[in-house]
Amino acid sequence: MSIKENLQKIKSELPAQVTLIAVSKTKPLELIQEAYDAGQRDFGENYAQELAEKEALLPKDIRWHAIGHLQTNKVKYITPFVHLIHGVDSLKLLQEIDKQAYKNKRVVDCLLQIYIAKEETKFGFDFEECENLLRSGEILKLKNVRVVGFMGMASNTGDNVQIKKEFSSLNQFYKKLSAPGFETLNFKLQTLSMGMSSDYKIAIEEGSTMVRIGSSIFGERNYSK
Ligand SMILES: *Cc1c(COP(=O)(O)O)cnc(C)c1O
Repeated sequence: MSIKENLQKIKSELPAQVTLIAVSKTKPLELIQEAYDAGQRDFGENYAQELAEKEALLPKDIRWHAIGHLQTNKVKYITPFVHLIHGVDSLKLLQEIDKQAYKNKRVVDCLLQIYIAKEETKFGFDFEECENLLRSGEILKLKNVRVVGFMGMASNTGDNVQIKKEFSSLNQFYKKLSAPGFETLNFKLQTLSMGMSSDYKIAIEEGSTMVRIGSSIFGERNYSK
């Protein structure tokens, strides 16, 4: 199937309130342009420099999402244009985004990455750390970032019951922190980013509002390039 057909198929499965992000990491400009020509406008990349290089060469109305683990020294490459940063996993990183956003006279929207998987290697806050950060008032000091939601990745497993449990736990947390009392000037939950090619249908059942899909649109990635 073509990229256009893949996009159409996936879109037909998504409820209206769910945003589709086409994850184009490692994929060449021509394939991104093909998805763009089929109407896709939200694209996700993992590596800051790759993201900045592609942004410079592709249409300006693309909304670029930084979805991977972001190092503080790479923030500067993407702050001038990035639409949403999904992988914020420390206060230090959020402070650096704030600093760079101030330099660029912007307010940058961010998602806090929450650790929900069983694997030890995944980045992110656990629920308690995240809640403590929100209660600490530190985020309110940052004038050039807005925390608009959470991002989570389920375990890389074929066990759908486990995946569902993990997404459900993040949805419960999202609902809890959406209650009155947590909202501040720059913390307002409106986005729950969860679901990839292998698990987006489960993620949607568990309340996802944003799915990040790569291989089901562009085909398998070849890392040996
Ligand atoms: C690569 C990646 C995706 C997309 O993965 P696919 O399995 O190709 O859909 C989604 N989210 C993150 C954080 C990724 O790194």
